[in-house]
Amino acid sequence: MFEKILIANRGEIALRIQRACRELGIKTVVVHSEADRDAKYVRLADESVCIGPASPRDSYLNMPAIISAAEVTDSEAIHPGYGFLAENADFAERVEKSGFVFIGPRPETIRVMGDKVKAKQAMVAAGVPIVPGSEGGLPEDPTEILRIAREIGYPVIVKAAGGGGGRGMRVVYTEAALLNAVALTRTEAQSAFDNPEVYMEKFLENPRHIEMQVLADGGRNALWLGERDCSMQRRHQKVIEEAPAPGIPRRLIERIGERCAEACRGMGYRGAGTFEFLYEDGEFYFIEMNTRIQVEHTVTEMITGIDLVQQQILIASGEKFTLRQRDVQFKGHSIECRINAEDPFKFIPSPGRITNWHVPGGPGVRMDSHVFSGYTVPPNYDSMIGKLITYGDTREQAIARMRIALSEMVVEGVKTNIDLHRELMADARFIEGGTPIHYLEHKLSQRP
Ligand code: ADP
Repeated sequence: MFEKILIANRGEIALRIQRACRELGIKTVVVHSEADRDAKYVRLADESVCIGPASPRDSYLNMPAIISAAEVTDSEAIHPGYGFLAENADFAERVEKSGFVFIGPRPETIRVMGDKVKAKQAMVAAGVPIVPGSEGGLPEDPTEILRIAREIGYPVIVKAAGGGGGRGMRVVYTEAALLNAVALTRTEAQSAFDNPEVYMEKFLENPRHIEMQVLADGGRNALWLGERDCSMQRRHQKVIEEAPAPGIPRRLIERIGERCAEACRGMGYRGAGTFEFLYEDGEFYFIEMNTRIQVEHTVTEMITGIDLVQQQILIASGEKFTLRQRDVQFKGHSIECRINAEDPFKFIPSPGRITNWHVPGGPGVRMDSHVFSGYTVPPNYDSMIGKLITYGDTREQAIARMRIALSEMVVEGVKTNIDLHRELMADARFIEGGTPIHYLEHKLSQRP
């Protein structure tokens, strides 16, 4: 097992990884920007290294600075968390070339999955169902593009092969708008992702977002750990996640889970990963694979009792990965609310000093957050300041516990979306379960 791991991230996930390491008896090195100097997990780390100014480009995305920090601290492995460099194949490669272990898949795997066109092709090969669409990237020829769209049937969605974070997508309802939309998406894709390739999919009008967690050892041992429903979204950003997904036949989940595990075996996948699907009318359609730990991994941990971050570390360490599919048992229900420092109505980020921070507790309540009273939320990063997670024997109990937890939670000094979560926990359609991905936006548009 490793003796020392460098955590190349910040905020709640830096703390989450640190906790996993400490439990395993592994020393931690935290790298941080000038803006995160006073974070508690920085002080709790065995060692910390300031890697640059607040701007992510100069710190958390600064590959040479992170690798030098690993060198000077004699770290053996680097955990990238999520976001920042977590899905950057070049970073993974540089980490390994510098003699450290990258806690994640092989660089080649990250590269293939980071290209959504190649990822879809890999899924077809593994028998994972995909959204119907263009076979690869779109050609230049306009008549060919029009033909492909006609074959798929409108509406279609034009997506950047290199896209991510909900960017680089455009829905097209009519033939008249198609060529312009393709050209615009191409230009955007070139400037945002340095890859002009775009592809086309059938636009599913009312799907749910269901994803499948996997763990694999890079060889033949690959497991699926059940699904999460992440349909409660705003601007393609997840707001609430839960596991299991309400109302989906277990046999179907098992079949998709097995397909995903098989796909992992096929590509020699190593580590934790997530297959994201849209789900409509009883069918699953693969959209992309995330080759990292996700924000919402917690709800899977709650219903399986498996610590996914520790498993990532175990797999990366090269120790024998002994978990088997039969060891994965699902029990109960879990919900996660992402707590953001933002206006609950206008969604404008609200950085600043948190003057009072009181977290809820009690049975089945988990709070993953790096925040404390007196902490200042820097304006430079994502507005998520914590994740409130509840567990119950049933979905009803998990919701009831979430309601109580939200009623107890106090955050003063910055605005938060807690009121939005309180509203959603009382929402009749949410309580019923199975809302589609446009539900939240639709609900928000009806607000007075
Ligand atoms: P990103 O990597 O930017 O998150 P995804 O491919 O995962 O991109 O898509 C993000 C979101 O966009 C999905 O969760 C869904 O809300 C919407 N979306 C993507 N593809 C489709 C599609 N074919 N039909 C309907 N909605 C889609």
